[in-house]
Amino acid sequence: MARSYVREARRRGLGRRRERIGPIVARLAVEQADAQIALCFRSDLELLVSVMLSAQTTDVNVNRVTPALFQKYRAPEDYLAVPADELERDIYATGFFRQKAKAIRGTMRVLIEEFDGKVPSRLEDLVTLPGVARKTANVVAAELGHSQGIVVDTHVRRLSQRLGLTRNDDPVKIERDLQRVVPRVDWARLPHLLIWHGRRVCDARRPHCEDCVLEDLCPSSRLG
Ligand code: SF4
Repeated sequence: MARSYVREARRRGLGRRRERIGPIVARLAVEQADAQIALCFRSDLELLVSVMLSAQTTDVNVNRVTPALFQKYRAPEDYLAVPADELERDIYATGFFRQKAKAIRGTMRVLIEEFDGKVPSRLEDLVTLPGVARKTANVVAAELGHSQGIVVDTHVRRLSQRLGLTRNDDPVKIERDLQRVVPRVDWARLPHLLIWHGRRVCDARRPHCEDCVLEDLCPSSRLG
C-alpha cells in the first residue's frame, strides 16, 4: 500500500518528496503549533523512565502512574533500593510491568556504573541501556536537544506512508527514508507534528481529508 502512494504522488503530479516536505512541515507547524511530547516529566531521568513505561500503552496511562512514581523514586539508586516486586506494583497499570521493571532496574544500574547516574544524550550511549531500543533512544535524545534520528511510531509510520514519503513498512527503513528528505533541523519536531496530525485529523480508520491542510500535497487524499 505504501508503495502505491509514492507512485500515486507522481501520477497526481504532486511533486517529488523533497519538494513536498517543506510545505508539509510548514503547514503542520502552523496547524499543530502546540505539538509536543505528551508525557509529563521534570528531569532527564523522569523523561527516560516515562518513555520506557510508554511502550505498548498510551501516554495518558503513563501520566496517571508517574506523579506518584516520581515522588517515590527520585534518583537511579531509589529504583534499586526496593525489591523488584515493589517496583512492579508501582508501574503495574502501564502493562508489561515485569519486563518494564526489569528494564528500568537494569538501566538504573548502568546509569550508576557507566554514566555517573546521569542520562546520556548520545544515541549510541542510550541504546546500551537495558530495554532501551532505538525508538526510545530517539525520543529521549530529541527531548534532550540532541536529535540524532527521527522517531517512527505508529502515527509517523501511517502518515509517512499516506503522504508518499516512504515505500517501506519497517520503522528503521522508514526512518532512513525520512532522514533522506527531511532537513536535520526538523528531525525532532516532525514526529510530534505527524503524531498530533494523525490523532486529530488523519485518523487511522477515518481520515478527515476534507479538513486537512495537507490535502493538495497528499497522494492518498480521498478527495483526489
Ligand atoms: S489528505 Fe487525508 S489521508 Fe492525506 S494526510 Fe490529510 S487526512 Fe491524511
